[in-house]
Amino acid sequence: MRTSEIRQRWLDYFERNGHHLAESASLISPDPSLLFTVAGMVPFIPYIIGTEKSPYPRIASVQKCIRTNDIDNVGRTTRHGTFFQMNGNFSFGDYFKEGAIDLAWGLLTASPDSGGYGFDPDRFWVTLWDQDTESFDVLTKKIGVDARKIVRLPREENFWDTGQPGPAGPCAEFHYDRGPEFGPEAVGGDVDPGGDRYLEIWNLVFDQFMRGEGKGKSYPLLHELEQKAIDTGAGLERMAFLLQGKNNMYEIDEVYPVIAATEQITGRTYGQGGEPDVQMRVIADHVRSSLMLIGDGVTPANEGRGYVLRRILRRAVRSLRLLGVQEASLQHLLPVSKDAMEASYPYLGQDFARISEVVYGEEESFLRTLASGTTILDVAVADAKKTAPSHPRLPGDAAFKLHDTYGFPIDLTLEMAREQGVEVDESAFRTLMAEQKARARADALAKKTGHTDTAAYEQVRSSLGASIEFLGYTQDEASA
Ligand code: ATP
Ligand code: MG
Ligand code: MG
Ligand code: MG
Repeated sequence: MRTSEIRQRWLDYFERNGHHLAESASLISPDPSLLFTVAGMVPFIPYIIGTEKSPYPRIASVQKCIRTNDIDNVGRTTRHGTFFQMNGNFSFGDYFKEGAIDLAWGLLTASPDSGGYGFDPDRFWVTLWDQDTESFDVLTKKIGVDARKIVRLPREENFWDTGQPGPAGPCAEFHYDRGPEFGPEAVGGDVDPGGDRYLEIWNLVFDQFMRGEGKGKSYPLLHELEQKAIDTGAGLERMAFLLQGKNNMYEIDEVYPVIAATEQITGRTYGQGGEPDVQMRVIADHVRSSLMLIGDGVTPANEGRGYVLRRILRRAVRSLRLLGVQEASLQHLLPVSKDAMEASYPYLGQDFARISEVVYGEEESFLRTLASGTTILDVAVADAKKTAPSHPRLPGDAAFKLHDTYGFPIDLTLEMAREQGVEVDESAFRTLMAEQKARARADALAKKTGHTDTAAYEQVRSSLGASIEFLGYTQDEASA
């Protein structure tokens, strides 16, 4: 079953079941507190938290998503993309737990001839909040799931909230058992032991309670909500890799063609294991994410969304280099990704001249940066090794100079130094960065007011600690 068909079946099924079909919102989050749309529910947040009334009691969608927090997992797990599509169905004061479980089970297990996906019902394991007896009863008595395959978890592990007083509620997650060849059976019910046997495919969130103040998950549940909501998300690529009999989400029809094109460019064969396979998967994922981000109007920049795009694109180029490709190559990959995605997103074809110009331009400029910076880095690395052969460390000012003079991003310095067994004095680097930014702001202020006020300088400087993180130089960002 092609991914575009799995997607269409989702929409058709929920339309038959009385849902209004909503178009995917942009990857640029409609909610101003998020950089990107990270889940299917994002466009419906006002309906879920109850600040606005939904014009439809039932909605279904297939939402384009970006999750940068998964970037280090890409290519290494079977299931994490920076870009992916989340299939969702939502109820605002309409059906609740039983309805949502019935609908999910119906679509997963109905035969392909009758519009379903035809998954074997015996393969599913379900995680529930341990207090949620209602869902437990529906699953065991009505649906007929073996109680042994229902894993009941404490609130810390299976409960949704927004991080502040407001709506909250338990989840029911459907995990698919890929079989004993992928590891031991879920001992003690742990379906997420880090192996590949159990694949989380669908999360049903039951928005049931009003919660009070409290840290983490230790808040009181005050009362049941008057208008309860259902918010579900199922990974389209995850279902596709199961239904297409593939090993992971990078091998499905919408992603794999780029891996195949990478084989052509690099002269390597995919599937031999090890780092080259990881790199090919990273390339395929990142090329697709770049295509989709630029398609939604993001352009490379040094902060915010544009910085995320820049990093993703540069990581793709870096991975190509690690596979031995020195010259500009995205022209051989981007059109392949576009062809694979166009059935679901026809605007990609119409807008491809613009999209490709952005990608190829960024690749060119990064290759120039790499050429000049690599030589400097190699010298600095050799120095560090000479200074402390047993524990070589690249000083913060060397990393800063690479950044400042040669436009070499810190994540790249970290990665390339690490490849040569050298660590980087990152905290010294960050201090230098903060000082530079504070200087720039103080200068701007001086220009405006005509004098340099050192108090203002200090203030700007101390406020920078926080904003630097926001700009994307977090630990998580830097490690990629
Ligand atoms: P995981 O535990 O595998 O990281 P999750 O619990 O973070 O997934 P949810 O936030 O529950 O995921 O999102 C709902 C569904 O979206 C998941 O069940 C999964 O099918 C899909 N999904 C989530 N993150 C990704 C991703 N990075 N790539 C592909 N699909 C994803
Ligand atoms: Mg996750
Ligand atoms: Mg999970
Ligand atoms: Mg989940």
